[in-house]
Amino acid sequence: LEGLTIKNLKKVFDGKAAIDDVSFEIQKGEFFTFLGPSGCGKTTLLRSIAGFNKPDEGAIYIGDKDITNISAEKREVGLVFQNYALFPHMNVFDNIAYGLKVKKLPKDEINKKVTDVLKLIRLDGYEKRKITELSGGEQQRVALARALVIEPEVLLLDEPLCNLDAKLRDEMRFEIKELQRKLKITTIFVTHDQSEALTMSQRIAVFRSGKCVQIGTPQEIYANPKNRFVADFIGVTNLFEIKNINSNSEYDEIEIEGNIKLNINKSDVAKYISIRPEHIVIYEENNGNENTIEGEIKEVHFNGNISDYVIDIGGCTIKASRINSFTGAIFEKGSKVFLEIPRNAIKILRE
Ligand code: ADP
Ligand code: MG
Repeated sequence: LEGLTIKNLKKVFDGKAAIDDVSFEIQKGEFFTFLGPSGCGKTTLLRSIAGFNKPDEGAIYIGDKDITNISAEKREVGLVFQNYALFPHMNVFDNIAYGLKVKKLPKDEINKKVTDVLKLIRLDGYEKRKITELSGGEQQRVALARALVIEPEVLLLDEPLCNLDAKLRDEMRFEIKELQRKLKITTIFVTHDQSEALTMSQRIAVFRSGKCVQIGTPQEIYANPKNRFVADFIGVTNLFEIKNINSNSEYDEIEIEGNIKLNINKSDVAKYISIRPEHIVIYEENNGNENTIEGEIKEVHFNGNISDYVIDIGGCTIKASRINSFTGAIFEKGSKVFLEIPRNAIKILRE
């Protein structure tokens, strides 16, 4: 078993690149996620890896083996489609056994493999059930079993949780992650949901308009987004353009909209800044700390464990969040507050 390498891959539809010169390497056994908005090319890339479409340029390798021109059946890649694509007229057993029958495996071996994989996804005893008699979550697991039963080198999951309701989706995140860890199977998970990507992945590749914009661990991408698109797409953030900059020996003093002045760490490339809401400290009184600005709470969004505040800081607004007390939100709409924005919480972006 070896990892997957994508080299300068390109796929054009009607003169427009759906995958635009994409390269990366996935380690053997890694849980790797493609994250990006709808239409950015995630499914196209996954289908290229599975062999369902032919790239116009570039190459795909498993280990040292170039699989770019190998047919889909011979790639040893298991794909779970976004809509599951189960055969509705077949029962659970036949759906899962399908790929093994195509490969003409002996009947005993097929029975054993299907029984084993059903145990693995905790659906033993469901062999005879019709697909139409299964819940959404169960169908999802059957689709997963069908991909796993062929013991692929690489498992590809195209938005596998997007048809499930919120509670089940959270449970399945954990279940898929556990299963992947147990099997140590190289996995590509596709999602447009940043929270899914952050909680499940070892590494994430962020896509925009067919291009891979950043690759890193969830922590790296969240803490050090490469540009405004990544900062904004992953999590919630406050983005400001730098209007003016004055260098100082220790730090730079910048001015953003509303004539607000902030000190930032020294940088040669500062054009924009990004500040996460949870890094802004809200006080009732001005304690004179660096980067403290006055504001008024305009909106309070109670969100169970935390509240999100929209705060007017004179000419512009900023989002800050804070964990709630036993009784609810700490600050009320209309309150006058002081915001401290620690210098290290200000991420400097060049684009
Ligand atoms: P995602 O999965 O990220 O939502 P897709 O890979 O499905 O994005 O689509 C990427 C782009 O390629 C879109 O602009 C889409 O319209 C286009 N596209 C995908 N498949 C085809 C196809 N078979 N024919 C023409 N255009 C396609
Ligand atoms: Mg898609």
